[in-house]
Amino acid sequence: MSPASPHLRALVLGSAAGGGVPQWNCGCRVCRLAWSGTRVKPRTQAGIALSVDGENWLLLNASIDLRQQILATPALHPRGAGRHSPIGAIVLTNAEVDSAAGLLALRERQPLQIFGTQATLDAIGANRMFDVVDRAVAPRRVVRFGEQFEPLPGIKLELFAIPGKVPLWLEEGEVSTDEIGEGTVCVAVEAASRRLVYAPACAHVTDDLDARIANADALFFDGTLFADDELIVNGLGEKTGRRMGHSALSGPGGTLEALARHANVRRILIHINNSNPILIEGSPEEAKVKAAGWEIAFDGMEVAP
Ligand SMILES: [Zn+2]
Repeated sequence: MSPASPHLRALVLGSAAGGGVPQWNCGCRVCRLAWSGTRVKPRTQAGIALSVDGENWLLLNASIDLRQQILATPALHPRGAGRHSPIGAIVLTNAEVDSAAGLLALRERQPLQIFGTQATLDAIGANRMFDVVDRAVAPRRVVRFGEQFEPLPGIKLELFAIPGKVPLWLEEGEVSTDEIGEGTVCVAVEAASRRLVYAPACAHVTDDLDARIANADALFFDGTLFADDELIVNGLGEKTGRRMGHSALSGPGGTLEALARHANVRRILIHINNSNPILIEGSPEEAKVKAAGWEIAFDGMEVAP
């Protein structure tokens, strides 16, 4: 394919769950290996960039590591003299710190558009710190379910609901972790005759999500935990995956089982927590997910579905 012909490219800017790998204050098994640079690649917090022409890019989520990710990605560097950025739009799947705090790094009056559901934009709108990203220069655009939109010419997106929970910083009282609403959404991408689904957080696979995956050429999916109780077992926290709104990879009803039938879709795990042993190169857990046909995202990975 000549470089001039449009084709969908996805760059993995960050592949880790909240806190990255290693986490700044963690000495668990995976983080120790990452600190020492042995068998675990360090990873920044999850987000991908999409383009069909290699010149103009849109971001799915803006993690708190965004500035570092831009520095590490030549395609996202400014070109020419004066102010410029190849980044024209940002689509938020939720208002978690991990997904949205990176907006604060984009406050140099660069024209761009910020897309999200009403709930996500309301959550950000209620936090005045985000006003440093001037709405006159970087307008916020509400997207409704079932509505296809084109944040950049040639890249059509649709947001759709999946089970999840409200952002951690908005949790109050009893938290529903299986809520289908505007709080956590997935992105269906259609560009240059290719389809890609981005689902970095998912409590369980619905019929709708399953059908969209069946239609896709590539899938980025929630790889947070290998086992539902792995935070507790490793002494890292008190929550199960279910409580955090993430389906584990292994076990009955886990992701490997739930999505086994999509062997002809390129399936990539992203948003991988520092507790997850699939991050250890050569581990039995890594072998297990690879044998099930999955790839494990790393920072800098390029996918052309
Ligand atoms: Zn750790």
